[in-house]
Amino acid sequence: MPVLLVVVDGLSDRPVDGKTPLSVANKPNFDRLAEMGINGIMDTIAPGIRPGSDTSHLALLGYDPYRYYSGRGPIEAAGVGIEVKPGDIAFRINFATVEGEGKIFDKVVVDRRAGRIENTEELIEAIRNKVRLPVEFLIEKGTGHRAAIVFRGENLSEKVSDTDPKAVGKKVKKCTALSEEEGAKRLAEIVNEFMQKAHEVLDEHPLNKERADKGLPKANALLLRGAGKMPHVPSFEERFGLKLCVITATALIKGVGKIVGADVVTPEGATGNKNTDLEAKFRAAKNALKSHDVILLHIKATDELGHDGDFDGKRKFIEKLDERISTLFDLNFSETCLIVTADHSTPVKVKDHTADPVPVIIVHEDVRRDEVESFSEFEAYKGGLCRIRGMDLLNIAFDLLNIAKKFGA
Ligand code: ZN
Ligand code: ZN
Repeated sequence: MPVLLVVVDGLSDRPVDGKTPLSVANKPNFDRLAEMGINGIMDTIAPGIRPGSDTSHLALLGYDPYRYYSGRGPIEAAGVGIEVKPGDIAFRINFATVEGEGKIFDKVVVDRRAGRIENTEELIEAIRNKVRLPVEFLIEKGTGHRAAIVFRGENLSEKVSDTDPKAVGKKVKKCTALSEEEGAKRLAEIVNEFMQKAHEVLDEHPLNKERADKGLPKANALLLRGAGKMPHVPSFEERFGLKLCVITATALIKGVGKIVGADVVTPEGATGNKNTDLEAKFRAAKNALKSHDVILLHIKATDELGHDGDFDGKRKFIEKLDERISTLFDLNFSETCLIVTADHSTPVKVKDHTADPVPVIIVHEDVRRDEVESFSEFEAYKGGLCRIRGMDLLNIAFDLLNIAKKFGA
């Protein structure tokens, strides 16, 4: 009795001349699902709260983000493959280019992305081998110039500042304690030691000498930001007794999956942008239905197109997705519960996430079908689900599948 939760990132919009990319798209299959199911709108976190993709995905999986979210650091670190443990302090990293004389904190950032360097594997390996600190650290490459790091030790506090000045022409910032806690002072010292040692290793590295010879900016500094302490997060299986699979190509969503103990799958050809292989993703989702109880299929491109303010591109991608979603009509809806929704709105007008509620369809044989016949922001609110919260979504599905625990006698 599985649940397939299709999350179309940033799908919904605010109207532009009364229309949205979703409302004007030619999407017969989404409309058919709306007709087959019960519809509604959803505040993924709460009314008026603008969700990040990480906090909203936690909520959609039944985890209160106010309790389990502790910044982007731990989620990014988990997303790039670090086994983050409770108490670990994680940061996001940029490879950057610094110039000047003296120590790292005397130098000026001239490129925050080190020429958008891609091949950082060797540099990271050198840091692992040569930098020694009073605590253990784990560092992994992310996409492009990005990476993540975890500091592991007793009583460290995440209440420390970034070393990323977030602008070129500025000096690298010293990490400072933002609270009186001993652990914050200690971590700040460790981070500063790491900054200097990593800089020495990187600046001397043959790959950087090669880059300098070719006239490319050296990737000779690491800028850290977004410190967060990994909280204790009970796994999805511990909480619900169900096996979760998350299918995504996006590091942040991989990270959410990892910290709740999901099996994370990135099918070949899945890219997280509009050229992604949707067929491969839906195939992976249908496969996962055989081995898992809850499958979250994440589709990213709609959010990117929303951030780009690309109304027509977003409409076209929704149409492409509509063709692929037809592959779900052969599911057995007396067994499977299908949910189609978004993690937040990314209106092309705003080019960022807003708190406007998202549309939801739940398809299952036992739902009370309503009169909604089309999938859009304007139709969804007429449906029988009315207005729900993200945290309620899986509970509703579990109840439909008769696997929810009774509250009371
Ligand atoms: Zn999102
Ligand atoms: Zn976004």
